[in-house]
Amino acid sequence: MSGGNQYRAGHPEPVSCAVDFCPDPAKQSGWCHKHYGRWRRHGDPLHEVQRRQRLPERELIRLRRMVGLGDEGPTAVDMRRWKRDEYDETEEI
Ligand SMILES: [Zn+2]
Repeated sequence: MSGGNQYRAGHPEPVSCAVDFCPDPAKQSGWCHKHYGRWRRHGDPLHEVQRRQRLPERELIRLRRMVGLGDEGPTAVDMRRWKRDEYDETEEI
């Protein structure tokens, strides 16, 4: 099995996890530690362990407004910006 999406390999910038919206840097096979672990355990990097995410919608909206997000939660643009911010602060290399 050749796991992982390698299409970003060779890119000069730090490679982030191949999973959409995952803010973590890729460690193995193009995935971050978390998603790689899921692939190893479940054969699916997107395997979701449904345990959290039980907040009522009203509470979610309240929290989103506290951090300046729209009621629908973070957009793809937000997620990308967070990714970039993280790289600015944590220089691993
Ligand atoms: Zn990931």
